Amino acid sequence: MLTAPEAEAKILDLVTSPITLEQVTLETALGRILAASIPSPLDFPHWDNSAMDGYAVRYEDVQAVTAEHPRALVLTETVPAGRSPTRPVGPGQAARILTGSMLPAGADTIVIQEVTQREGDRVVVLEAPAPQQFVRHRGSFCRAGDALMAPGLAIGGPELAALAAAQCVQVPVFRQPRVAILSTGDELVTPETPLQPGQIVDSNQYALAALVRQAGGVPLPLGIVPDQPQALRAAIESALSQADLVVSSGGVSVGDYDYVDEILAELGATLHIRAVAVKPGKPLTVATFPAEAEMAPLYFGLPGNPVSALVTFWRFVAPALRKRSGLGTGWGPVFVPAITRHALKAGGARESYLWGDLKPTAQGYEFTLAGGGHNSGNLINLAGTNALAVVPLGTTLIPAGEPVQVMVVG
Ligand code: AMP
Ligand code: MG
Repeated sequence: MLTAPEAEAKILDLVTSPITLEQVTLETALGRILAASIPSPLDFPHWDNSAMDGYAVRYEDVQAVTAEHPRALVLTETVPAGRSPTRPVGPGQAARILTGSMLPAGADTIVIQEVTQREGDRVVVLEAPAPQQFVRHRGSFCRAGDALMAPGLAIGGPELAALAAAQCVQVPVFRQPRVAILSTGDELVTPETPLQPGQIVDSNQYALAALVRQAGGVPLPLGIVPDQPQALRAAIESALSQADLVVSSGGVSVGDYDYVDEILAELGATLHIRAVAVKPGKPLTVATFPAEAEMAPLYFGLPGNPVSALVTFWRFVAPALRKRSGLGTGWGPVFVPAITRHALKAGGARESYLWGDLKPTAQGYEFTLAGGGHNSGNLINLAGTNALAVVPLGTTLIPAGEPVQVMVVG
């Protein structure tokens, strides 16, 4: 049985980055992954401009100014934002300038208005500025032709700002991976179906579709498949034909009706992983198929228990999906050090994840264990939590008040 880090590394090795690009508008680019380097069409800033409200001056005119020896300069004009200056600033002159306004020719320094006195068409400078102060020079942020952004970047607010400023209205992004979701089990019904004794709702379908979306994939919820080898085989074949990744839940343990691994083998899959030393979530199947497509589809058979399905998704499927979506780095889950408020108990034979709440305090992060049973079938007390405390392999107790690594999932 592999350890969690071994399984994670093996899975990431099986995933290649995407190559298919598509163009999306700025309005729909949020959360997508940039697929090409964007050369800047412009210098940033586009021209020398002022970082402050004040006066554009020639440094040599005011370098010797002191409180005792102020210097009066004659105003040439006011340069409002969005307009070009109409005349140069000559010796003994200054232009009134506002934040973002273009610097007039001849001026090289901004004197902030707080150290001046206005006297009609003249301004008296009371303090010597530093040379070139508060001038944002043309091209000092980025030069035309230089790469604005590199591929593999997730597009968020700052990236949208840079793309918009560069007038990049069509953004090249990677096609999002399609993720088929199958729920296996004769006991499963949809949420609309009146429950008969022994039946439960296929909650995994909804949870996994949400996690797929959050990890940058497009979920294809394919519904419930009964525990019949024929039906399961047909459903898996259909899923493989339309998706980049297939995620099924249930049917991967050693019960009498657990057919997933058998069918995958029949279909010619290579089974890379069949179990990982984690709790919840030990039975985890990872398989690949030969394919001529952009990339062979990757199959994840997750355990059926609701908490196990989600924990194995967060720990193993989400990183694979993020890599498959084209994200350049940062595929893995985020672990943060925290102090646990409660004792954390585990069996020791597997890396254990205990769910609860992570919150910042003045001393750092603090983890509070969720109340109620920590049972892989308990989907009720998992709701409302945002983190999983990790009890390492070989450890049976982390006492209250001690440090613990916590995986952020909220
Ligand atoms: P299995 O891995 O198929 O043995 O299922 C383990 C447990 O998880 C059983 O109690 C199932 O009823 C439950 N389970 C399986 N699939 C789902 C699902 N899609 N939604 C909710 N619970 C499930
Ligand atoms: Mg089952």
